[in-house]
Amino acid sequence: MHASPLRVIVIGGVAGGMSAATRLRRLNETALITVLERGPYVSFANCGLPYHLSGTVGRDDLLLHTPDSLQARFNLDVRVHHEALQIDRAARTVTGRQTLTGEPFTLPYDRLILSPGAHAVRPPIPGIERAFPLRTVPDLDRLKAAVDTAGPHVVVIGAGFIGVEAAVRAAGRHVTLLEAGPQVLPPLDPELAALVHQELDRQGIHVATGAAVTRVTDTHVHLHSGACLPADVVVLAAGVRPSDQLARDAGLDVATGGGILVNDHLQTSDPLIYAVGDAILTRDALDQPAFVPLAWGANRQGRVAADHLMGRPASYGPHPATAIARIFTLTAGSTGLNERQVRAAGLTPTVIHTHPASHAGYYPGAQGLHLKLVFDAATGRIYGAQAVGGDGTDKRLDVLATALHAGVRADDLADLPLAYAPPYGSAKDPVNMLGYVAQNVMDGLTRPLQWHEALSSGRQLIDVRSADEYRRGHLPGAVNIPLDTLREQAPHLAPRVLVYCQVGQRGHTAALLLNQLGVEACTLSGGYLTWQAGQASLTPAAHP
Ligand code: NAD
Repeated sequence: MHASPLRVIVIGGVAGGMSAATRLRRLNETALITVLERGPYVSFANCGLPYHLSGTVGRDDLLLHTPDSLQARFNLDVRVHHEALQIDRAARTVTGRQTLTGEPFTLPYDRLILSPGAHAVRPPIPGIERAFPLRTVPDLDRLKAAVDTAGPHVVVIGAGFIGVEAAVRAAGRHVTLLEAGPQVLPPLDPELAALVHQELDRQGIHVATGAAVTRVTDTHVHLHSGACLPADVVVLAAGVRPSDQLARDAGLDVATGGGILVNDHLQTSDPLIYAVGDAILTRDALDQPAFVPLAWGANRQGRVAADHLMGRPASYGPHPATAIARIFTLTAGSTGLNERQVRAAGLTPTVIHTHPASHAGYYPGAQGLHLKLVFDAATGRIYGAQAVGGDGTDKRLDVLATALHAGVRADDLADLPLAYAPPYGSAKDPVNMLGYVAQNVMDGLTRPLQWHEALSSGRQLIDVRSADEYRRGHLPGAVNIPLDTLREQAPHLAPRVLVYCQVGQRGHTAALLLNQLGVEACTLSGGYLTWQAGQASLTPAAHP
């Protein structure tokens, strides 16, 4: 007897849902696969939306597939304008309505894959309904029409990745970026976020941190400080929440704070129902529950769910979140946990900062990078890394993400045999250098103090840069003893000192020298450059 074909319904037709549906088809030619999507588009590139705002990417290029192309290539029954409203787990049906006509539908399933995504948080601010979110193609169309036709003043609420990307892509207008928290880009620690903030300032984006929006009117945005900003267009980028209501209503396990709970195979509490993408909770590098609404995870999870559904041994374990964005001339990103998150988990990480060049300094065009590694000095376990800089930032971030996911120890970064020729890197690549520094710390050769510990360390502060560099700016109270004269000055120093230079390298040489001459010396992680960025992060940016 012929078994009846497997009926699979996928709810949500963007990254996670379409990855699942197409993988499923590749593994099973006979399954009846239906994709329900409430919006008018499936398989669109939502990470590309801000790039259409700036005109870099054409609108049609964002639409990767249509229901017709998915029918032709994958024999998928893709129904746009179809909103799933209820799952009856006992009857194994999904009911919903056609959003254009209101017509109801009921469809039976053998397996269900939920990929309903996340939705923009709308803070309870009077008038906020005027603000445009940026999650979907219709959102983009509305926002772009407003930006193209309204007056020049754009106010963006929220300086996470979406807010910063929207602000950057709207450049050329009079853009103000309002952030309730103390810094832009929350995945970064403050001293790296400060570098992004400075770039936004340089490019004419007005950034206000600690900004509490109290009211949005037809023409203005009002702040708690009393300021009133002209606002022809308001962009809402105050974060997203998992769209888990359908799952909740179906009695599936959902975290109290939001997010569908799944096992390693991405099955919900009902094994016939899988869930993937921005709607679920996954686990971070410390194996803690994490909400990671990023495209990489949605794509990976879609494939894993389809594989497992088809009886293949697939699972999705703890993963570091890796994110990156282009901010004018800078690239900024992070992988794994930042220092703040590691401390919040009750751990005491060791932190190092470096500021290498993107490639050999003698080869034209080298650009500056700023790297931060957060790790455990006792075991070498890497918790996370952050990178801000010019060319080659993405490459270093990806190597570090790979190392983190593969369990490479911090000191073993020195051992990675990375590609090198002068236009691309250095014989000691910036990632190798992080490994060398980590090795020195783990071996007890160097003890780095952090930018926020320097002034309260009780140590004599010694600036080992040149007199010129010192004159241009130094730590309060620091004495200037250039590295090359340090040997003869050593007998006159306090017994405990903190030595620093511009980025950390001369400071390291100085500390090793002094320690051998009987002076107990610590270094300043990342040198004056990190200290300056740290100081900048302490100063709230007022509205313009
Ligand atoms: P987010 O949570 O990263 O940032 C939202 C920001 O809005 C926070 O900094 C928050 O403090 C601020 N905020 C909240 N309420 C506010 C208020 N009333 N006034 C002013 N500020 C307020 O969220 P997002 O930027 O909307 O992005 C959503 C998710 O998508 C994130 O996880 C993000 O990492 C991801 N994403 C990633 C990329 C990328 O990797 N390039 C791009 C876009 C989005």
